[in-house]
Amino acid sequence: MKEDRKDLQPVRPSERFLVFAAPAIEDAEIEEVVASLKSGWLGSGPKVARFESDFSAYKGGLYAIAVNSCTAALHLSLLAANLQPGDEVITTALTFCSTVNAIIHSDATPVLADVEPETMNIDPAQVEAKITSKTKAILPVHFAGRPCNMDALCTIAERYGLMVIEDCAHAIETEYKGGKAGTFGDFGCFSFYVTKNIITGEGGMVLTRRAEDAGRIKTLALHGMSRDAWQRFGDEGYKHYYVVGCGFKYNMMDLQAAIGIHQLKRTDRLWHRRKAIWKSYDEAFTDLPLKLPAEPEPQTRHAYHLYTILVDETQTGISRDDFLSAMTAHNIGVGVHYLSIPEHPYYQKSFGWKPDDFPKAKRIGRQTVSLPLSAKLSDEDVDDVIEAVGRIIKYYS
Ligand SMILES: *Cc1c(COP(=O)(O)O)cnc(C)c1O
Repeated sequence: MKEDRKDLQPVRPSERFLVFAAPAIEDAEIEEVVASLKSGWLGSGPKVARFESDFSAYKGGLYAIAVNSCTAALHLSLLAANLQPGDEVITTALTFCSTVNAIIHSDATPVLADVEPETMNIDPAQVEAKITSKTKAILPVHFAGRPCNMDALCTIAERYGLMVIEDCAHAIETEYKGGKAGTFGDFGCFSFYVTKNIITGEGGMVLTRRAEDAGRIKTLALHGMSRDAWQRFGDEGYKHYYVVGCGFKYNMMDLQAAIGIHQLKRTDRLWHRRKAIWKSYDEAFTDLPLKLPAEPEPQTRHAYHLYTILVDETQTGISRDDFLSAMTAHNIGVGVHYLSIPEHPYYQKSFGWKPDDFPKAKRIGRQTVSLPLSAKLSDEDVDDVIEAVGRIIKYYS
C-alpha cells in the first residue's frame, strides 16, 4: 500500500458523506405523519395508544408506556422503583451518560461495575463485588445489542433482593435464552432516538409487568395528572383532571408514534439487513490486526445495533483518534460508544471515579470505533466502509 498512496484519495466524495447511523425511513411513516398533521391531533392520542399496544404485543404482552426518550423511561422506572436518597444502583462503566444521569436524577447513588472485555457487558462478578447494604437495584445495559448474562444477574438480584432495570436502548430485538430483553427485570427501557434500531426521532418506552407500576409511570410521564389530553378534550365532554403526583413532561406525541408504528412492523427486515452487514464486516476484517466484536452467544439473539472494532495502536500503528479522523477524511461517519463513564469530569468530581478503577471499560473506551451499521446502507456503502478501513489499516500497520 505504501507505494501508491491510494489511501490519500478519499473512498467517497465529500458530497456523498456517509452519515453514521442514518435512520431508514419509508413512505408509510411519512404518510402517517402527514395524516396526523392533517387530522390536527399532534400530541399524545390514539397513535401513541396503538404504538404502545403494538410494542407490548411485540414483547409478549407486558404493559408498555410510551415516553419521549429512553432517558425519561429510565428516570420514571427508577422513580417507580421507590428508591430513597442514599440507595445505590449498580450500573456499567461502559454506557451512555444518560444511564448514570437517570440514577442521579432519581436521588439514588450510582455505583459502577466494570465490564467483561469480550462481551463489553457488565460483569456479574464485578456487580456482586459492589453490593452493599444500600444496594437496591442493578441497571444492566445490553451493550451494542448483545444480551447481558441475565442468568447470573437475575440470580444475584434474587439472592440480594434487588430490582433489575434493563437499559434496552440498543436491544429492541435482543433475546436471551428464549426471553426478550426488557422482560427479565422489573422495568425495561427502550430508545427510539434517530440513531437506534427503530426510530421515532425522539422517543422511548417503558415495559413493566405490574399494572400499578404502569399506572404510576403513565401519570408521572404527564405532570402527575390523572387524565391525559385525549381523555380531557375528547368527544365525551370536558373532564376534570387532578394532580396526584409531581410529574414530568415526558409524554410521546402522536406525531412520533406515527413513525414508530410503521418502523416497528419493519423490525425484523431491518434486523436481517444489519445482520448481513455485520457478517460482511466480519468476513472483510478477519485478517486485519483489529479486534472485532465477539461472536453472538448461542441461544441468544443479538440486536446488531453497533459494530465496534478495537484499534490498538501497538497492533495497527495508528491511534484510535487518528483512525476516526482517517475514516472521516474518507467521508465515512464513525462513532465512539463510549468513552468510559469515569473519563468525564463531572463524574470524577462528583463521585471520585477514575478511569483506572475500571480498566476494561477504560481500554475499550480508548480503543473503540463504531462503524456504520444502519439498515439504510446500500451494498456499495458497505463496500466503501470496508475499503476505507482496509486502506487505513494496511497503510499504517
Ligand atoms: C441512546 C441511549 C440512551 C438514551 O436514549 P434517549 O432515547 O436518547 O434518551 C440510554 N442508554 C443507552 C445505552 C443509549 O445508547
